[in-house]
Amino acid sequence: MPRTAHEILIAGQWRRGAGEPIDTVDPATGDVLATVHSASVDEVDEAARAAARAAADPAWRDLLPHERARLLHRIADRTEAAADELSRLQTADTGKTLTETRALALSAAGTFRYAGAALETAEEALTPSRGPYVTMSVHEPIGVVGAINPWNSPVASDAQKIAPALAAGNAVLLKPAAWTPLVSLALGRIITEALDELGLPTALLSVLPGSGRVVGDAIVRHPLVGRIGFTGGTGTGRTIAAAAAEKLIPASLELGGKSPTIVRADADIELALSGVLFGIFSSTGQSCIAGSRLFVAREIYDSFVGELVARVGKLRVGPGTAPDTQVGPLVHHSHRDAVAAHVDRARAEGARVLCGGAAPEGEQYRDGAYYLPTVLDGVPNSARICQEEVFGPVLVALPYDDEDDLVRQANDTVYGLACGIWTRDHRAAWRLARRIDAGTVWINTYKQFSASTPFSGTKDSGLGTEKGREAIRSYQRQKSLYWGTSDSPLPWAN
Ligand code: NAD
Repeated sequence: MPRTAHEILIAGQWRRGAGEPIDTVDPATGDVLATVHSASVDEVDEAARAAARAAADPAWRDLLPHERARLLHRIADRTEAAADELSRLQTADTGKTLTETRALALSAAGTFRYAGAALETAEEALTPSRGPYVTMSVHEPIGVVGAINPWNSPVASDAQKIAPALAAGNAVLLKPAAWTPLVSLALGRIITEALDELGLPTALLSVLPGSGRVVGDAIVRHPLVGRIGFTGGTGTGRTIAAAAAEKLIPASLELGGKSPTIVRADADIELALSGVLFGIFSSTGQSCIAGSRLFVAREIYDSFVGELVARVGKLRVGPGTAPDTQVGPLVHHSHRDAVAAHVDRARAEGARVLCGGAAPEGEQYRDGAYYLPTVLDGVPNSARICQEEVFGPVLVALPYDDEDDLVRQANDTVYGLACGIWTRDHRAAWRLARRIDAGTVWINTYKQFSASTPFSGTKDSGLGTEKGREAIRSYQRQKSLYWGTSDSPLPWAN
């Protein structure tokens, strides 16, 4: 890709942003892919005003749900048709493998398709009347929604917010992460073209790259923005929640995790080994739901961890563009250094490095943001490496003695995002699934996602829900109607 000044999408128009230029880098090579000119605070204001006008435009506001669904299906078709292009862009920008980024692009298409279908079947309620009136509860758009995303799975997390927000009848201001704006801009082009083809206001979507501190903050605090959909770190989530509370607007927060993966002695060991590997090392560990704490029954601990480590050593590390790569580079050189610092600190605090613990050696890795898949043990669950989110290819293994000990350790974390359970005992799976603090529990599988299944975190992992039918409702406000049916004046008037 040439080193160009990318245009950004402000109120349906493509132009160079007036904010600071940000170089976006291919983490496999260190090469600058493009210089993206961020939106300025004034441009956020311009986009928000245009979005409010677009949301209120009768051409959009008066569309019936099945007509809005047409737009969502069209976006889905176009996204699917562009899956290869979106995949290549995302691999270049994030370092992820092409297999994974293609799956993410197709999942984005599926999310738009699901939102269209869910919208057409979403019913309003006629509530039981308690007087001479008909009572109804209906849902209406909020107006302008701010969607703020991290860098790890941009196109999929963009769709998770834009699809229900548009289905709900809103306009959207999307802010991608500063490191990975390219695929969000490409999705913006797809959506704008679909809006244009259907004669709808193109200002319904703006894509506003830039720093969180400037552009993200300007979106969250803008008086016309009435709902925030946020995915990112817990600290940022708190800041955004405080700003939303000040404005009294709803915010959904999908935040960090330190998810336990549990291997019981009765597990299908082959399934568990591949599941644990996939759960932590796919996406090079840069996944909120990564199974980063491995709890293994003490009686099989040595054999299971020994075999796991042997297999980790065989994982193929390389650029996301190589067809056989399993573990790509990290998103950015500075993030690689942050991951390495976590491991170095754990080592200094007494952790044993069973494998990895360094950048790979060799000419082909020299310029990329690579870090070897790493397994540590020998520290208690209270150690920082067990408590802090690393967001990289780092697994810490811990033995457990019995179920109470396991639950105590697994829940001893500020996070509550996900959990994996490997067992052949369905009763034990049920008990554990209900006792672990997590928004999602996978039993004998891991990291599987469906657009129709709600996704949320508990404790410091978040507030609110994405996906599922209710996602559309979460981007609407509820209104109650009382419709009088009596010809008699109200009693007080007499
Ligand atoms: P981050 O919190 O640093 O940034 C996320 C987004 O928020 C970025 O677009 C950033 O520019 C913006 N931002 C930063 N400060 C802001 C502010 N004050 N106001 C408004 N916006 C602001 O997170 P990151 O490093 O990009 O992503 C990694 C984190 O995301 C990890 O903690 C990971 O667990 C989390 N994550 C969670 C989920 C989930 O669904 N629970 C999914 C993916 C990633």
